[in-house]
Amino acid sequence: MRIAFIGPPGAGKSTQARKLARALPHWNTSPRLSTGELVRAQIEAGTDLGRTLGGQYERGERVDSATILSLILPRVRRAGGWILDNFPADVAQARALDEDLEERGSGGLSRVILLEGPSEEDLIQRVLDGRVTSQATRDVYHLLNDPPPEERTDPGPFERRNDDTEESLRRNLQAYRSEAEALKQHYEARGVLSAVDARKPIDEVAEDVLEVLGHPEKPEFYTLPSNSQTA
Ligand code: ADP
Repeated sequence: MRIAFIGPPGAGKSTQARKLARALPHWNTSPRLSTGELVRAQIEAGTDLGRTLGGQYERGERVDSATILSLILPRVRRAGGWILDNFPADVAQARALDEDLEERGSGGLSRVILLEGPSEEDLIQRVLDGRVTSQATRDVYHLLNDPPPEERTDPGPFERRNDDTEESLRRNLQAYRSEAEALKQHYEARGVLSAVDARKPIDEVAEDVLEVLGHPEKPEFYTLPSNSQTA
């Protein structure tokens, strides 16, 4: 399957992309690709690019599209299926992805899942109230809504992201707002957009995502005519 999660910061893209990757029977052949994590990996590896990105990341600035594309497209090409987390972020990125897929004749996106519903204030509150990331697994948790598990499942430590400040979130929300309608229309016109209500509790959202995809976690999915979605 070729899936993308889009939506405002804090909507739950990373959380749901991970849950979906784990729910799929062949999830290791449909890797989750996160632009945020690709950027953070460059920073941690201390590459030249990482040093430039590090400054932008600390300041909560958006990374330019050319860099994002240079990080993600090679990974997209390498795998037949994937779950994209927070990419494409705008129509220019969506077009670049479409063109790359077309050139390779590998088929377009199976579905784009739009996570939305919470107000901007609720999204900010949600993140500031307790988003933490495991330094061991990079999994995202929430101190109140999705507390980190016991040590043998994920040893942590669980830390807040440097860019999880109100100022940075507001800037990212504004950037999302200015792109959201065009991005939605782009995928709506291609008939692949499905909205899921991100106000519900995490597990209910995960159920709704599986529903929208036709329950790919069930073996029947691979024997139904919707087989074409599984490439
Ligand atoms: P995004 O990737 O869209 O920025 P995250 O997946 O990081 O969003 O989720 C933001 C924070 O909110 C995380 O701490 C996550 O555990 C929590 N969260 C995600 N989805 C929900 C939800 N439906 N209800 C409550 N909290 C949620």
